Amino acid sequence: MVHLSLHDAHQLAVKCLQTNGCDQANAEAVAARMVQAEGDLCHSHGLFRLPWYVAGVKSGRANGKARPKAEQLAPAVVRVDGDGGFAPLGQEVGHHALVESARHNGIAALAFTNMFHIAAMWPEVERLADDGLCAMAFTASYPYVAPAGGIKPLFGTNPMGFAWPRKDGPPLVFDQASSAMARGEIQIAARDGHSVPETAGIGPAGETTRDPNVVLQGAQLGFGGYKGASLAMMVELLAGPLIGEFLSIEAKEDDAGKGGPPKGGELIIALNPAKFGDADGFLDHGEKLFKAILEQDGTRLPGARRFVERQKTAKTGIEIPQSLYDEIVELM
Ligand code: NDP
Repeated sequence: MVHLSLHDAHQLAVKCLQTNGCDQANAEAVAARMVQAEGDLCHSHGLFRLPWYVAGVKSGRANGKARPKAEQLAPAVVRVDGDGGFAPLGQEVGHHALVESARHNGIAALAFTNMFHIAAMWPEVERLADDGLCAMAFTASYPYVAPAGGIKPLFGTNPMGFAWPRKDGPPLVFDQASSAMARGEIQIAARDGHSVPETAGIGPAGETTRDPNVVLQGAQLGFGGYKGASLAMMVELLAGPLIGEFLSIEAKEDDAGKGGPPKGGELIIALNPAKFGDADGFLDHGEKLFKAILEQDGTRLPGARRFVERQKTAKTGIEIPQSLYDEIVELM
């Protein structure tokens, strides 16, 4: 393993992205997201993704010099055109417009289009909850997940993020794929020679397997059977047709085998609890639920693991596999 301070990890990623065609604003935004994920020990969206970002720019599909622009489509609907770049810079541009619109209207939506999203979703919803809002986010990806009963990949692993502000301390945040396992986790299992649970996916002929390499050739499965598959379908519709963006199957056609990240959209919905009738009580009311959960042995709140890791890595820095470090250095 190679030990890096958060600062050094950021600088390494920025340099690698700039060497491969990103300008400073885009490189800084993407690097910040990856290092934020490393800092919270979410490796599947950390520096592991850097070669994929680079491949996207080098193939000419992703715009490393994107200048995303926000426009108001309706009183409570903001759209950010990502200018064909990666999501993190567009999210910077859209955040403040969404916060203002939600504060004013009580509810507001932000539709990201024309961008490449391969990141975790907790950073954007957590930031909105830090601003006192409740938030949900959805994005599609490439076809990896079979519909319930089918064996061919059709849906993305389509994650959903949710955040709720808390009275003291960081927000309540969950962020999860609608597949039984995130794609990155299966790729990491394949890289490290680990098996995956049988629920993670099936082989090309629909056969049961615990081999991540066979799942990568076959199809992933939704979590909880048909219920996860329906959530994956909902995410496809919200982050695709609703906002005029690609379905996962269309993102694959668009990629046409070039192997970079998926082009597509993201929908974020923000709600201002102060405008939903219990401005003075909602925070305490939410805390009542969290207290009742935590009174049971064996429970924890989603997001709690990340916040603990974040405090640790702020002091200790992070570790990445030597092979990944070498791959990044080779790209520079
Ligand atoms: P996990 O299954 O690791 O975790 C899902 C959520 O459950 C997290 O919020 C986690 O909190 C919480 N959690 C885990 N264990 C418990 C527990 N015992 N009690 C309460 N809460 C718990 O995530 P996934 O593998 O499904 O997804 C990983 C990441 O991949 C996500 O960030 C997702 O956005 C991303 N992704 C991105 C895609 C894209 O195309 N952009 C596609 C698919 C996934 P905690 O973090 O604190 O552990």
